[in-house]
Order: sequence, then structure tokens, then C-alpha cells
Amino acid sequence: THFGYKTVLKEEKATKVAEVFHSVAAKYDLMNDLMSMGIHRLWKRFTITLSGVRRGMQVLDIAGGTGDLARAFARETGATGRVVLADINASMLNVGRDKLLDQGFTGVEYVQANAECLPFADNTFDVITIAFGLRNVTDKDAALRSMYRVLKPGGRLLVLEFSKPLYTPLSKIYDAYSFSILPAMGQMVTQDAESYRYLAESIRMHPDQETLKGMMANAGFVNCDYHNLTGGIVALHRGFK
Ligand code: SAM
Repeated sequence: THFGYKTVLKEEKATKVAEVFHSVAAKYDLMNDLMSMGIHRLWKRFTITLSGVRRGMQVLDIAGGTGDLARAFARETGATGRVVLADINASMLNVGRDKLLDQGFTGVEYVQANAECLPFADNTFDVITIAFGLRNVTDKDAALRSMYRVLKPGGRLLVLEFSKPLYTPLSKIYDAYSFSILPAMGQMVTQDAESYRYLAESIRMHPDQETLKGMMANAGFVNCDYHNLTGGIVALHRGFK
């Protein structure tokens, strides 16, 4: 049946995503710096700036992986605040937790959870972020609804994700880069070209700026907007509850 077919595809995607992130976890941070030439650090800093985080706030970083955003939030929220790093993948969570503990960040909570059904009470968080995570989620609408549910009224969601380059020449260079150089780099550093081929494909399949903005509005978020970063290679979407 159509339903059965769709279910198989969904399971395949989730299995693939789990394999990819188990495989890349140990070298994830190194690959991020190499692939983006360090620029992911600027994209993340901009995310922190637009989050409006302050002392005492409760922050959830979904698909938090190796913890770059959670660490930056932990610096801001202080002893009276709370930072939760959630990720579906145990290998990524372990790498993130070890890194943050080694660096002296003891206050962060680690939760293994699927973005599609977050295990938190309604209206819990002031700020929710998901960075380079939404494109890996099978049911993105369910994930956005789940984020909306656990966000406090007045709170904000920030989605940092690859998007659609604004200019044709840039998108040509970018395609060449992601479909040939990225898998080659992946092969050299992690002996795993396949995971980086998945990365390039998942980026191409991901909804563009306006589509994602519409999906956020459909999930209930208001005053949705976005900033194009690096010519639209990445976009930071923001929405409020
Ligand atoms: N946010 C980190 C960063 O920006 O460096 C990590 C991003 S990494 C590219 C994507 C992360 O999404 C992985 O750690 C993966 O395990 C996680 N992920 C994939 N599907 C997920 C889901 N359904 N729910 C929660 N996390 C998920």
C-alpha cells in the first residue's frame, strides 16, 4: 500500500541518519571546521546573538550533537538558568558530553530524544535552537509542532540550516564543492565518503528559505523571519510563540 511504502522510506531515512552520525561522531568537530573553513563558528555566534538569551533562561538545543551551541548558551544562562542538549544519537551525545565536561561545563543536561516527540512539558523553554539538525529529521512538521509545544508563550525558536544559495554562480560552485570536494574530504579524514555524500544530498533536498518559513507558520509560530548567511548557503529562521 501507499502507506506501507511511505513507512519503509521513513524507517530507511532514520536508519541512514543514525548510521551517518554514529560513523562521523568522533571526527565531527574537525570535519565541521574543515568543510566550512571555520565559518560555522560565525553562523553559530549569530544564532546566539539572535536568540536573545539572558541569565536565568531555560534553553533547549535540539540535535545539539557535539554541543557548540549548548556551550555558548551555558556561558549566558548562569547558575539560575538551564541548558538542555537533546540529540537522537548516543554517539554524538557522548562526544558532546565528554567535550563539554573536559572544558569545565558541568551544568548542561543531556537528553537522548527525537525532535519529533520531545519529552518535555508544554511551555517549558524560553529559547529553542536546532542547528543543522532539521534536515535530518524525517517528519519536519511534527518536529516543528513538538518544538512549538515545549516553547513558552513569548519564547523563540531559531532554526540554523543549509538553504538555497541566492545567486546562480554561487550555487554552481557550491554544488561542485558539496558533491565532489566534500565526499573526498570525508574519505580522507574519516575513510567515509558515503556519509558526506548523504550530507550533500540532504542539503539539496531541504526546503528553501520561504518554504521553511511557511512550515514554521503552519506549526503555529508567529512573526517568522529569516536571515541569509553566506549568500544563502545557510539561513537562520526565527519564529515566536
Ligand atoms: N547542532 C550540532 C552542530 O550544529 O554542530 C550538530 C549538527 S549534526 C549535522 C546533526 C545532528 O542531528 C546529529 O547529531 C544527529 O544525531 C541529530 N539528529 C538527527 N535526527 C534527529 C532527530 N530526529 N531528533 C534529534 N536529533 C536528530
